[in-house]
Amino acid sequence: MDVLTDGIVLKSRPYGERDRILTLLTPEHGRITVLARSVGKNKKQSVLYAQNFVFSHYVLFKGKGMYVVDSAEVAESFYGLRQDITRLALAQYFADVASKSGEESDAAALCSLLLNSLYLLSATELDERLIKLVFETKYCVIEGLFPSVRCVHCDKEPTKWSFKGGFFCDSCGDGYPITQGMVAALRHMAETEGKKAYLFSMNEDSSRYLSKLLSDYVSYVTDTEYSSLAYYKSLLI
Ligand SMILES: [Zn+2]
Repeated sequence: MDVLTDGIVLKSRPYGERDRILTLLTPEHGRITVLARSVGKNKKQSVLYAQNFVFSHYVLFKGKGMYVVDSAEVAESFYGLRQDITRLALAQYFADVASKSGEESDAAALCSLLLNSLYLLSATELDERLIKLVFETKYCVIEGLFPSVRCVHCDKEPTKWSFKGGFFCDSCGDGYPITQGMVAALRHMAETEGKKAYLFSMNEDSSRYLSKLLSDYVSYVTDTEYSSLAYYKSLLI
């Protein structure tokens, strides 16, 4: 029986001379691996729908142990990403992090977050560090990996963040120091939906520090060192 689904390509790799194996993030079925047949003259080429980050409406059928693409209609290619190597590198990091999502996580929410983030990177001038901060925070919220931003022991405003233990005030525990501005930003990003999640202000130093802290936290909770993130950082120097 055919399966109709939307999907974003998280990963596309050659298979044989002309086929490709795609890892898709879908709202209904989470992450799935599909075979895309005869999508290039040779294994280095591929048609648009089989490229990274492209969002399409798919008709799939069940082949031997794997879904096979029957047809794909491209809905959004995020073409703007291909014009900016820094933003493209950040998009790759987002896709790599999304690839680590758990089987039980809310795939529809994750799809929506990834689509929004790719759109903001490809078609707007919004500060990419802000897009990254919101993506990382919301990813952790969706995965159930983001602690409440209050001291875990006494519920006071936290001043420390321990990746292992959660947030602490000065009296209750130790961790990476965080300012009240960072606490407010983390809470805002975690709790605010839609475009408003991107509306908060923070000075350059705080934003840079929080960006590093969130990347480290994502790396910690997903148990992964992201080469795409290292590449992105190397482009900023
Ligand atoms: Zn406390």
